[in-house]
Amino acid sequence: MMDLNAAVIRRIVFPLMHIVKGNNIAEYLVSLQQSQYFSKEELHNLQKEKLKKLLLHCVKYVPAYEPYKYLIPLINEDPFGALSEFPILTKQQVNKHMNDLIYINADRSRLIPNRTGGSTGEPVRFFIDRPTSEYSEAARWRGLSWWDINIGDKCLMVWGNPLELNKRENLIYNMKERFLKNIIFISAFSLNPQSIEKYSKMINLQKPRYFYGYASALYLLAQLMMKKNIKLKYKLTGIVSTSETLYDFQRETIEKVFDCPVINEYGARDAGIIAYECPCGKMHLSAENMIVEILDIETKKRVGSGQTGLVVVTDLNNYSMPRIRYLLGDVAALSEEDCNCGRSLPVIEKIEGREDDIFISLNGNYVHGVYFCNLARNYSSIRQFQVIQKTRSDILLKIIKSDNFNESEIQSYINEIHKIMGPVNIKVEYTDIIEPTASGKIRYSKREFPISV
Ligand SMILES: [Zn+2]
Repeated sequence: MMDLNAAVIRRIVFPLMHIVKGNNIAEYLVSLQQSQYFSKEELHNLQKEKLKKLLLHCVKYVPAYEPYKYLIPLINEDPFGALSEFPILTKQQVNKHMNDLIYINADRSRLIPNRTGGSTGEPVRFFIDRPTSEYSEAARWRGLSWWDINIGDKCLMVWGNPLELNKRENLIYNMKERFLKNIIFISAFSLNPQSIEKYSKMINLQKPRYFYGYASALYLLAQLMMKKNIKLKYKLTGIVSTSETLYDFQRETIEKVFDCPVINEYGARDAGIIAYECPCGKMHLSAENMIVEILDIETKKRVGSGQTGLVVVTDLNNYSMPRIRYLLGDVAALSEEDCNCGRSLPVIEKIEGREDDIFISLNGNYVHGVYFCNLARNYSSIRQFQVIQKTRSDILLKIIKSDNFNESEIQSYINEIHKIMGPVNIKVEYTDIIEPTASGKIRYSKREFPISV
């Protein structure tokens, strides 16, 4: 059935936003739809020109980057080479030197303040500008268009609180989202066996075309529906998982319960839409909007395709508060492979999640948190869990027991952890709830100390 509101948003609200507010998302989307089919060389040249312009702007007009003025000749000749001469920018540095990162002639009243939810460590505060935000939105709509989801289509968001809004603001925000963007919300905090029937009735009534949310929240929604044997009475076009690593077990369960494709969006509040999954299953970078580099975890030198390392992002549109080589805190690898879908946008593979998802064993090996997830899946005694590496030799294991709990399974889980981590201390804590982070995400694993120690 046609969604009237979707049509109104596409044909009236969006064009009106363009006229009244100078919103350029639709225009940017058209250009991104074209450049995705550029030849590799054309795409490379587009990036090169944008990077050159940005770096020249930075060394001339952004105080933090003025010491790199000596790079001007190199920037003109080989902007990619010049880029690697710039230092890595950490989240702590952004917080500490925020004023120095702002363009000297920026109209501060037009900057858009933003911050990360701080699901680990301290939140980062920064500014973006309209082009950055709108190009990022356009990249999201381009990715969704690959799945036949378009601007204005009704969306169910499974989310934490949108921002740190008070109640009244929250209400207005919800109304605005509802009517201007055709979005309805479910809070990740309110998903439980009691609320799920009410929510599934609401979904069947409202018939959103797609769901959008954190992987862990969507997975929880699917698990609750499976447990209560609830099926939706209509077919979803897709379910978009974002902001967290989407694990295979989550994808399988969500696909099984909703019988529709799960679409992986790789985005971060402090980097925008980085990559989008295409129907061939590859994650395509938003190459027109940003340069993505992968660096060795220890040496911080660029690694080759296929090699896993730290994700570093340079947004090519943000002239107001540029962040060159911003260390996102994620771990991933680039791929040389072409995609059958015909888009020349580079492919990113193995997004392994956050840097602090990686544990370090007693003998110094890196162990990815997904390992503990995969292990836990073998034990039906565990309904939900969280593994926290407190120090090199201390692990806290939080477990929510399932209905058919058996103590011996937990012991064999611990034995398996010992095998890979060495003879560390493992403290088991049984609990009824594993709290999501302030932003509504559920972390399955995290390391709480720096890896260099
Ligand atoms: Zn593709």
